[in-house]
Amino acid sequence: MTQAARKIRLVLELRRAGVTDTKVLSAIERVPREMFVPDAFQDQAYENTALPISCSQTISQPLIVGLMTQLLEPDKRLRVLEIGTGSGYQTAVLCQLFRRVYTIERHRELLAEAEARLAQLKCHNLTAQCADGTRGWPEQAPFPRILVTAAANEMPATLADQLDDGGVMIVPIGANVIDQWIYKVTREGQHFREERMSQVRFVPLVPGAVPQAS
Ligand code: SAH
Repeated sequence: MTQAARKIRLVLELRRAGVTDTKVLSAIERVPREMFVPDAFQDQAYENTALPISCSQTISQPLIVGLMTQLLEPDKRLRVLEIGTGSGYQTAVLCQLFRRVYTIERHRELLAEAEARLAQLKCHNLTAQCADGTRGWPEQAPFPRILVTAAANEMPATLADQLDDGGVMIVPIGANVIDQWIYKVTREGQHFREERMSQVRFVPLVPGAVPQAS
């Protein structure tokens, strides 16, 4: 089976599993996931599975990318902050659907690789930095949308504070890997409405210093 046929099969699978927003499905269809997957896993680039990348991290499962992006209620007029660039795959999907994407990754090596891929894909509406994403991006805040792609132990208050009034943050929360859930957080003035959505498994959101390149 060709990569193109595998990709169509994946998109159909995501639709059956609840990704019904056609904008999100067509963004996933436009992004070549094989560019973000290590050589050893090329044959699995269009399987609905998370895969290992450098620095002991993972590229997210396509279904989770689809569901989280859909929950984010994407809009071409809006800016979005992403925490945890990783391979850059989710970032590329966001670049199709938002006016500007701000992304933060704590591993310099991962960020450099992701930025190279995203430049090759002409994702020019992107601003990236290597930093501790738990602090958000105060200079660019507030944001109408925030997406966190690593699991927080508890509600990340600093990030929630960087939401616009009416803004939405999608974040996996759970200290224990077998009890992690995606939350949709909607800001209503000084109140944050929290809705628990699907169960997931993410690598942890690690607060604090950025590791030095070895
Ligand atoms: N969406 C990514 C998934 C990356 S996995 C993809 O599809 O490839 C989560 C990423 O979050 C990892 O790369 C990890 O290094 C990063 N991360 C964890 N804690 C972080 C923090 N405090 N600040 C920024 N990035 C962080």
